[in-house]
Amino acid sequence: MKKILIIEDEELIRMALEDDFRLEGYEVDIAGDGIKGYEKAKEPDIDLIILDIMLPEMNGFDICRNLRMNGIKTPVIMLTAKGQEIDRVLGLEMGADDYVTKPFSPRELQARVRAIFRRMDSTPKDSEEDIFSSKGLKVDFLQYECYKNELLIKLTKYEFGLLKYLIKNRKRVIDRDELLDKVWGDDVIVTPRTIDTHIANLRKKIEDDPSDPKLILNVRGVGYKISSG
Ligand code: CA
Repeated sequence: MKKILIIEDEELIRMALEDDFRLEGYEVDIAGDGIKGYEKAKEPDIDLIILDIMLPEMNGFDICRNLRMNGIKTPVIMLTAKGQEIDRVLGLEMGADDYVTKPFSPRELQARVRAIFRRMDSTPKDSEEDIFSSKGLKVDFLQYECYKNELLIKLTKYEFGLLKYLIKNRKRVIDRDELLDKVWGDDVIVTPRTIDTHIANLRKKIEDDPSDPKLILNVRGVGYKISSG
């Protein structure tokens, strides 16, 4: 079980965060001031730290900087105040991995935490490539986001899965059976025809001209291949 340390002096926020993370299945430790927080943050069993900036005794910047200076690489998400752009910049400079701006939605924070754990858990090979871009398409595998010409586009779970599988295996042609097996798995019954439908929908979202695809190419009689050139 992953253990999260929350360093936050505002009791209501701290308690709300503690509840949220416990409900999400994490083990949680808390600290209400900077010194106690720093001491706990050094413990090797902490997997991630939620760190407020304005804290009594020792502020969040100093905590983060001291951790990094001591070679402690535990991921840190900073809680920055609204409108304090400087906090965000400073936080990242001090070695924070991400930040959320107060007031934040619990869902947003949970998503950030999951993204960091995904990044940590992914194999080195995967983490080499967090972002794929080609021909106006940009896929961010950490945030599970996809952009076409800088605009965020919505993909269904299977569309994203298809795109990801094609990108990760872009050196070869993938046949429909493999896509069925790897993207859909055993739990859903689909036909090769389903693949073609999903590919068609995907092309409508990511190709400049879906009738003349340049990203997802058909390889006649075999399957599909993504073009990254
Ligand atoms: Ca505070």
